[in-house]
Amino acid sequence: MFDAAIVGGGITGISTALQLQQSGKKCILLEAANIGSGTTGGTTAHLNDFFDTTFTEAINDFGKDNAQLLAEVGQEAIGIIETNLKNYNIDSNFERKKAYLFALDEKQEKQLEDIVDGASKVGHEMMYVDEILFLIPFKKQSPFLIRHSFIP
Ligand SMILES: Cc1cc2nc3c(=O)[nH]c(=O)nc-3n(C[C@H](O)[C@H](O)[C@H](O)COP(=O)(O)OP(=O)(O)OC[C@H]3O[C@@H](n4cnc5c(N)ncnc54)[C@H](O)[C@@H]3O)c2cc1C
Repeated sequence: MFDAAIVGGGITGISTALQLQQSGKKCILLEAANIGSGTTGGTTAHLNDFFDTTFTEAINDFGKDNAQLLAEVGQEAIGIIETNLKNYNIDSNFERKKAYLFALDEKQEKQLEDIVDGASKVGHEMMYVDEILFLIPFKKQSPFLIRHSFIP
């Protein structure tokens, strides 16, 4: 007998099963094909605590408290993956890196300001920088730095 059946052995199902197992539950993982053969097998494995939905959008749609929760769980999720990699000796080349968003025109510059503003409201660390490491032209003062992690 099992306490939980998890359908799908992608990162979502595997992570859920592991968390449940670590909390003492007996789990069965049901996978129709092969473990990690779905979308997870095709990912670029770039872990980011900054999402396609900006914190400004999250605040507008779900309120500040929920947007703050989103910011916190985004960072927590990366921490869980990092811990699992260490605990299970998974050779992944996990590295924490800086990431940059930059504006190419005035419209994007306004979008950046909104993004930075929303991020500051939920305590997500971002800052403007004058230089980026890449040879990409951008409007001065527009790029900013965000924390993110990367598994090649
Ligand atoms: C090209 C590409 C690049 C990406 N890059 C990134 C990235 O850099 N960073 C990022 O965060 N995200 C990225 N993503 C998105 C990310 O890969 C997915 O959000 C994530 O892998 C989804 O995982 P999942 O476990 O929810 O789904 P899946 O990995 O698709 O797992 C679902 C599993 O369920 C199984 N299944 C389905 N139906 C059944 C059933 N009835 N019974 C049993 N098993 C079933 C499938 O076989 C599959 O193995 C990328 C996606 C793609 C396609």
